[in-house]
Amino acid sequence: MVRKMKSLMLFKSFGISLLNSCKSQSMRVPGVAASRSFTSVLPDQDALPDTHQMLRQTCADFAEKELKPIAYAIDKEHRFPSEQVKMMGDLGLMGINISESHGGAGLDALAYAVAMEEISRGCATAGVIMSAHNSLYLYPLQTWAADNLVDRYITPFLNGTKVGCFALSEPGNGSDAGAASTTARLDGDSWVLNGTKSWITNSYEASATVVFATTDKSLKHKGISAFVVPMPTEGLSLGKKEEKLGIRGSSTANLIFENCRIPKENLLGEAGFGFKIAMSTLDGGRIGIAGQALGIAQAALDCAIAYAADREAFGAPINKLQAIQFKLADMATRIESARLLTWRAARLKDSGQNITKEAAMAKLAASETATKVAHQSMQVLGGMGYVMDMPAERHYRDARITEIYEGTSEVQRLVIAGRLLKEYSA
Ligand SMILES: Cc1cc2nc3c(=O)[nH]c(=O)nc-3n(C[C@H](O)[C@H](O)[C@H](O)COP(=O)(O)OP(=O)(O)OC[C@H]3O[C@@H](n4cnc5c(N)ncnc54)[C@H](O)[C@@H]3O)c2cc1C
Repeated sequence: MVRKMKSLMLFKSFGISLLNSCKSQSMRVPGVAASRSFTSVLPDQDALPDTHQMLRQTCADFAEKELKPIAYAIDKEHRFPSEQVKMMGDLGLMGINISESHGGAGLDALAYAVAMEEISRGCATAGVIMSAHNSLYLYPLQTWAADNLVDRYITPFLNGTKVGCFALSEPGNGSDAGAASTTARLDGDSWVLNGTKSWITNSYEASATVVFATTDKSLKHKGISAFVVPMPTEGLSLGKKEEKLGIRGSSTANLIFENCRIPKENLLGEAGFGFKIAMSTLDGGRIGIAGQALGIAQAALDCAIAYAADREAFGAPINKLQAIQFKLADMATRIESARLLTWRAARLKDSGQNITKEAAMAKLAASETATKVAHQSMQVLGGMGYVMDMPAERHYRDARITEIYEGTSEVQRLVIAGRLLKEYSA
């Protein structure tokens, strides 16, 4: 509790100092008459408890001051923003849901969703780094690692100097995660891992990974187990860094295990628990990706509103045109609907309920919102939406991945329909 209060105090003091400096800042919009800042516009703020409003404002101010200014460069240079990730660690964001007893901020899933949105509003790359680290790496460790793994694999990962990753997908199966072909064989006091994991976020910077491998092929998905593997380690190498459409400051690569030997104690939970661990981790992860998608969508709306206020056509600002106003209205409505679904899923998680359906709904709604809103934002900007001088084209590229990772939109629909039909037949 004391630590949580300290975290919030830190949020508060950081927020206030940044707020003052942000008042003098504004968003430069080349090619239009004036410029605007939308830092203080936080829609739906009243729907949040006071502590979460404060956290949200702090993250928004941090994103405006530290992330927005570097988002263009790290995207262009495909550069991991280590300095900013360290600052996020100082704010408590790189261990936001980790309990205070383990040294984390001890905040809840709603706080995570809110923070993810504001961080991603500033920079979607920073968002995915934060999300893979918190919900995909730290969550399964906090929930299933034996106590003796905490000092090595959790505590040093909370201040932004070390990040983790999560290796579930394989070249031959992404959506069908139960078909894992990577194997883990017990040999004396070690597990020996062989196989390839693909598309792994944070892989080039990670100091450890959670990895899923089959320990008993005959049991299919019930024979999958989860492990934590230090990085670098003998027998584990990285494939080439993928060149991506968006979120280009984050690394994505294959992890190749060739007789990679890890201690027996690095098993998470029990042998055969891996699929359950992966699915439960993804339920929480989908709230994070929903938050990321909302941040990208909100940034795209911010950009469109700023531009439409200052761009003139036929002798008047384009925001006087009904065609533009309708687009802005649709964008805002989509975002607010998806935001409420996301906060609902987070609140249900915080109350200890099963969130498989609600997290899938939140992710589906938010990611489809992000791609639609980014598309409309580009349309509002016309030609300026298509060039790199303005962030609209980056939002358009960054939004797309939210419909693919942590389960494609098709997979979210399968999950929702599966639960729905079960509820109706109960
Ligand atoms: C940038 C990036 C980062 C990523 N980060 C990670 C990471 O950190 N860790 C990790 O483990 N993975 C990661 N992934 C992998 C990601 O989760 C998978 O790409 C995703 O789950 C889809 O799997 P796939 O690419 O194999 O597509 P496939 O499963 O081959 O799907 C191809 C198409 O078929 C559809 N499809 C498949 N099965 C069904 C079905 N039953 N019903 C209807 N449609 C179906 C899919 O929706 C999709 O449209 C990342 C991917 C990317 C691109």
